[in-house]
Amino acid sequence: MTHYNKISLTHFVATVCKIIGIEKPQGADTSMDWVCDVMEDMCKEGYDRVLIHNPDAMGMFLYEEFPDMFEPVLKHTQLTVPFRTVMPSVTPVCFATMFTGVLPEVHGIQAYEKPVLTVDTFFDALVRAGKKVAIVATIHSSMSKIFDKGNFDIFIEDTEANVVEKAQELIIEDQYDVLCVYTIGYDKREHYSGPHTPLGIATAYRECGIFDQLVSVVKRNWKNHNTLITFSPDHGCHEEEGISTKGVPVHGKHGSDRTVDINILHYFGVARRTK
Ligand SMILES: [Zn+2]
Repeated sequence: MTHYNKISLTHFVATVCKIIGIEKPQGADTSMDWVCDVMEDMCKEGYDRVLIHNPDAMGMFLYEEFPDMFEPVLKHTQLTVPFRTVMPSVTPVCFATMFTGVLPEVHGIQAYEKPVLTVDTFFDALVRAGKKVAIVATIHSSMSKIFDKGNFDIFIEDTEANVVEKAQELIIEDQYDVLCVYTIGYDKREHYSGPHTPLGIATAYRECGIFDQLVSVVKRNWKNHNTLITFSPDHGCHEEEGISTKGVPVHGKHGSDRTVDINILHYFGVARRTK
């Protein structure tokens, strides 16, 4: 991969907000109107639910090398958007930009640290619009911490399997308008086993399967809602030997300004009302 994607991740949040008809967070970059137009055409009635799957470290290079890996994602989605994530390409920095629509120097997280954001976020915008929103994420993760201003629900689980189980329970209980589901599986594997090892790749396939599973539960249980669904990773990764902050050998990293870390694909789809 020699070229950087052109579309800044700062455009994500205003785009989602426009599709579901709410005000974007204060200061957020503009929406991508062509994406809004396509998604509005896909569902003329408008969207009243959102499911966002945030699989950590699932870079665009995976699609280029293993396109069949994404069949479980592609079968539920109609549009793929090539985003350029922000630097440093580490999880809290990238998710902060994804859900505020501003650059790291504006939201304030510019390194691998997880303070609660002080700027306006997607979650604040949803609460103001009267939407019930929840995040489901693993313990100690950026997603479980940086948006936690105490104004909406965050479900914290100890493993990815429990995150997936909890997310399915919440979809079935049908109490939330917007769910963000963070899965850490591939990120862990790319660090500890390597991005291209059989274990790393098997885990990446599994992440796409999780999306399929979550969307299938939405389609079975949210039959009287029009749901916007997105598969939205934070950054990619690359092979690099090193030692983690915990003193453990690692074989994969991210955080650098190279295309495999920076280029990500987001997939947008609709699960239409069936009754
Ligand atoms: Zn990582």
